[in-house]
Amino acid sequence: MDLMEYQAKELFAKHDVVTTLGTVVTTAEQARSAAEAIGGTVVVKAQVKAGGRGKAGGVKLAKTPEEAFEHASNILGMEIKGLTVNRVLVTPATPPVEEYYFSFLLDRANRQYLCIASVEGGVEIEEVAKTNPDAVKKIAIDPGKGVDAAKAREIATEAAFPEAVFEQAVAMIEALYQVFVKEDATLVEVNPLARLADDKLEALDGKVSLDENASEVRHPDHEAFVIREEEDQLEAKAKDKGLNYVKLDGAVGIIGNGAGLVMSTLDVVAYAGENHGGVKPANFLDIGGGANAQVMADGLDVILHDPQVKSVFVNVFGGITACDEVANGIKGALEILGEEASKPLVVRLDGNNVEEGRRILADLNHPLVTLATTMDGGADKAAELASA
Ligand code: GDP
Ligand code: MN
Repeated sequence: MDLMEYQAKELFAKHDVVTTLGTVVTTAEQARSAAEAIGGTVVVKAQVKAGGRGKAGGVKLAKTPEEAFEHASNILGMEIKGLTVNRVLVTPATPPVEEYYFSFLLDRANRQYLCIASVEGGVEIEEVAKTNPDAVKKIAIDPGKGVDAAKAREIATEAAFPEAVFEQAVAMIEALYQVFVKEDATLVEVNPLARLADDKLEALDGKVSLDENASEVRHPDHEAFVIREEEDQLEAKAKDKGLNYVKLDGAVGIIGNGAGLVMSTLDVVAYAGENHGGVKPANFLDIGGGANAQVMADGLDVILHDPQVKSVFVNVFGGITACDEVANGIKGALEILGEEASKPLVVRLDGNNVEEGRRILADLNHPLVTLATTMDGGADKAAELASA
């Protein structure tokens, strides 16, 4: 389960990570009142489970309560990466002088934890990794040993936190590790970890993914983080389009025709996922008999907007709707979606007119599309792509 920024910050505060909680509101009027109560300049921040809110215009400074009202009016209802903003966080504006990046994550493939730190934060870390890879430090953590003061110091040294904030960085690293292990998180990320004008370090943003396998028994309190109407956004969109869709929690989007085939596709993907770091299906989606371009585009549209989805497995058995029609449906869907289609698709077609269907997709030669000849092979490929 991914948390929103304000929820992540609640966990930060619980474990003594320096941060400012602020006030979460759902209307512009409430944002004005919150800004009034806080006093001075505030930041109005979109609360959605997606990064890049700043770039999308979802993070705005407001000098007066009136400005907070205006920004909140604009931000509420805005779509960021396909997610509608239903709430904003109003926090005191604490202008960063420098922005760092810090995270702990579960490194399944190597059976350890990984810490990623950079003094070049603020922007997306993937960007920094591309343009200035030396500035991104990766430090392996033995889960048996964990992060004590000495290890935190080692990490802070490796990341090269400046002298003036070094000791605070050490304390911050230890505290963030407590969030990571005590809450059974698979990711704890702070970007930016900010150095403020008075040389205080503060977590200005927070991203936490909790391991749901631990939630029920070990953390009954985590249930309170589930926001029903947010969870159902994608399902509501699918319903509007008349699709038979159920959101699940994994990273492999699934599209199939026929409930039975889709159910078994979920099983096969979950099974294949065990060889790829435990990736799981992201949804159930049965597009039924008429797998034409529009239905396929609608299905892909919903699935690609699920921020948890990393790859998509299209598993269709051609019957009354033959494979060539399905293939043309996929081709048409990719045209309709254009740049919105941004995640790899593995397509397995079988049944009526399969050769023609495969030929159409082979000719299409789309960079995101991989053809699979068997269901097991396709599931394995999709799981592999989702774990990358
Ligand atoms: P993201 O774009 O979704 O990662 O959202 P962030 O919370 O990281 O905000 C984007 C940028 O807005 C940050 O890199 C900061 O430069 C700025 N920002 C975020 N929070 C604050 C804040 O409390 N005060 C000020 N002055 N700037 C902030
Ligand atoms: Mn951020």
